[in-house]
Formats: sequence, C-alpha cells, structure tokens
Amino acid sequence: MSGQVAIVGAGPSGCYLAQALLKAQPDLIVDLIDRLPVPYGLVRYGVAADHQGTKGVTRQFARLFERQGARFFGNVAVGEAITLDALRAAYDVVVLAAGLSVDRPLGIPGSDLPGVIGAGRLTRSLYEHPDADALPDLGPRPLIIGNGNVAIDLLRLLAKTPEELEGSDLGAGPTKWLERQAIEEITITGRSPAAQAKFDAVMIKELAKLAGVTIRVIGAGASDDPAEQKKIDALLALDGIATGPRRVTFRFGLTPLGVEGADRAEAVHFTSPAGEETLPCSSVLTAIGFDPAADLPRDALVSLAADAEAGVLAPGLYAAGWFRRGPRGTIPDNRADAQALAGAILTDLAPDPSRQGAAVLAALPDVTDYTGWTRIDSAETATARPGRCRSKIATRDAMLSIARKDHGDAP
Ligand SMILES: Cc1cc2nc3c(=O)[nH]c(=O)nc-3n(C[C@H](O)[C@H](O)[C@H](O)COP(=O)(O)OP(=O)(O)OC[C@H]3O[C@@H](n4cnc5c(N)ncnc54)[C@H](O)[C@@H]3O)c2cc1C
Repeated sequence: MSGQVAIVGAGPSGCYLAQALLKAQPDLIVDLIDRLPVPYGLVRYGVAADHQGTKGVTRQFARLFERQGARFFGNVAVGEAITLDALRAAYDVVVLAAGLSVDRPLGIPGSDLPGVIGAGRLTRSLYEHPDADALPDLGPRPLIIGNGNVAIDLLRLLAKTPEELEGSDLGAGPTKWLERQAIEEITITGRSPAAQAKFDAVMIKELAKLAGVTIRVIGAGASDDPAEQKKIDALLALDGIATGPRRVTFRFGLTPLGVEGADRAEAVHFTSPAGEETLPCSSVLTAIGFDPAADLPRDALVSLAADAEAGVLAPGLYAAGWFRRGPRGTIPDNRADAQALAGAILTDLAPDPSRQGAAVLAALPDVTDYTGWTRIDSAETATARPGRCRSKIATRDAMLSIARKDHGDAP
C-alpha cells in the first residue's frame, strides 16, 4: 500500500490537491471528506448563480472520482462527527482544506444591528446552503461595504432584472425573495481609492451589460500604474450608463465609522479625505473577507505550524486553499497551490499499513458517497424550472434521502 490521505473539504482546493496527488501517485488512497452531503464547496454555494461558466470546473473535478479513484465521504463534519485526532490516527496524511466560512465582522458601533448582513451569510441563503439562515429583508436601498469580487457579485445579482437571471441556478424561493426586495438603489463603497480596489476589471466590465440600471461612479481618480488604470477605465466606462431605473452608485475612499439606526441599519457614517458623511440605506451588506469557523482550531494550528506558508502544520498534517492562505484568490489560484503542496506531501509520506483509513468513518450515520452526489445532481437538473439550469435540493434531509435513493422511486 502506498499511503492513505484524508482531505478535509471537497471544495476546489481539496479537489485540486487530490488531482495532483493521484496524478503523481495513482495507487494512493485519497479520501475527500466534507461536512456537506455534496462536494465542491464554494463552487456550489459561493460562486454566483449567474456565473454557470465558472461552475463548469465541477466537470473537471468529477473526473477525480470517476477516473482517478478518489473517494467522497459527505455529511461528515470533522471536529464534530469525528475528531481531528481520530482522523490523524487513521490516515498517514490529513490535509485541512476546509475553507473559511465566517464573515469577517465590520467591528464598528452599530454593526450588530439587524439589517447588517455578511456576504457569506447572504450568499449561503441565496444559494440554498442546507445550514443557511432564512433570507433577510434588505429593503429598497442596500449599501455594500467592500471592493472585491464578492462585493461586485452581490451588486450584480441584486441589480439584475428577472430576465437577466435566465439560465442561472437561482432557486424559486430566492428568485421570489429578490423580486420582493423591490430594490431601487444600490450603493457600493470601498475604503481604498478605486486604483487599489480588489475587484478584477473583467467583473466591472460585465456590469456594463446590465439591462435595468442607471450607474454613477464618484471619485474614481486616476493612476500612473497601467493595471490600476485599467480598473479605473472599466469603472469610468460604467459612469452614465442608463438602461433602467435601478440606481447604482460607486463610492471610494470611504472608511465606515458606525452604522446608525433605531431598530435596524438605516445609515452608515463614513470618514474620507474630504470629511465625514452619512449615507442612508435600508441594509448594509459587508463583503470584507472571511474568518475560520470554530470547528477546526485553525489559528492554534497555524501558530504552532512547522511551515504555515508551505501548508505544513505538523507531521502528517497539512493545510491547503483558503484554509491555508486566507480568503484570497480565485478557484484556479488553488490549483498552483495544490500542486506545490502535493509535492511536499509525497516527499514526506511514510505509509503505515496498520492505519485503519476510511474504516474510521464506517460507524458514522448518513455518510454520502460520490454515487449519492450524482443522484442529487441528476435530481436537481431533472427538476430545473423553466429559465433555470438546476433546482437545488435545499435541505440536508432531502439530500440524504435522494443520496440513499430511498425517495419515491427507490426499488
Ligand atoms: C461568495 C464567493 C464567490 C466567489 N466567486 C468566485 C468566482 O466567481 N470565481 C472564482 O474563481 N472564485 C470565486 N470565489 C473564490 C473561490 O470560491 C475560492 O477560491 C475557493 O472556493 C477556495 O476553495 P477552498 O477549497 O479552499 O474552500 P471552499 O470552497 O470553501 O471549500 C471548503 C470545503 O470544506 C468543507 N468543510 C468546512 N469545514 C469542514 C469540516 N469541519 N469538516 C469537513 N468539511 C468541512 C466545506 O463544506 C467546503 O465544501 C468566490 C468566493 C466567494 C466567497
């Protein structure tokens, strides 16, 4: 036997790592373990519903299970259903690729008011994550704090007309919810000047196609740096677009000082080089990064790590993807990372045939496998409503039932 590897998290970084490991050493046992009954992490529950091209990466990941021999163990929360220590005892190598799922708090007075909503919380609800909260009320004038691609995703989704969501996988409930918000105006604010905003120019250019908006860009400035100027040019090209009544305003260099409101967020008070100002709103959406969930002791592991930068936490324990490097980088960025980490793991690997491997998961209830996921996937695409490419199964119980095939048409 050439070794047993457990990867905690079947998101992009876990999948890319499994691919790289099995390509280099095809007889390795590689088990991807996820707290959800379904694989692919943020590709399913973070990437925007109207970016189906991006989600197409799952076809590549599917080959991992269908051709390269990786195994999927879903509905297993490491740190809850099984301890990390038990997993480390059972496998030669454990890799934490569990992502970062907690919205980084705004941390200013009033930021705990109702109506202040993190982008992670909102996207999980919008995209029907089984553990998500109910969709919150945004009101007609949401204000977005953040200048990265996640902030732009939110802006685009909220700004689109129902027709522009054709072909997406936005569910029936979230679609109705979006219509109910009757959004009139979206303001998006960033702390840095436009030149240093984190979003990609391509994300900004896409906004030029919106069919029902009137866009204003205030204070975009200019830069000597060609890459920065490219972003500014993309923004300036939006200024003055008037295809419909929904107002979208970009603001830069605004540092939030406090959220104001009696019972819920009604305004945000900012400071800027030009002075202080207060922008009224009906909700505040924060897209300012993510922190680790409490189920895995990331901070302690990283602080004691042998080489955290390289993803080496301790003998036989590694970290990959967002869990390793923080909430930065796109799906393809995780690929280069995974290839480097696979090399380090295979160099260190010292297989111990006495380890029990996946048998340690055998006693856990309702563990799903890749076949179970393909049943869920088929059920979701088969029941897609007109104008949608998929109808997501939104509850864990329903997913488990379909994965086990004990729903209606079971033999
Ligand atoms: C809202 C949003 C939109 C994005 N849109 C894009 C985009 O359009 N294009 C792009 O290239 N990038 C996009 N990104 C970035 C991209 O999603 C990340 O680069 C990528 O998902 C990181 O992969 P990961 O595997 O490290 O983490 P994740 O994708 O978060 O995967 C982590 C997995 O670990 C599982 N897990 C967590 N804890 C446990 C546990 N205790 N036990 C077992 N399993 C666990 C989770 O269920 C999840 O499946 C977006 C990110 C966000 C937040």
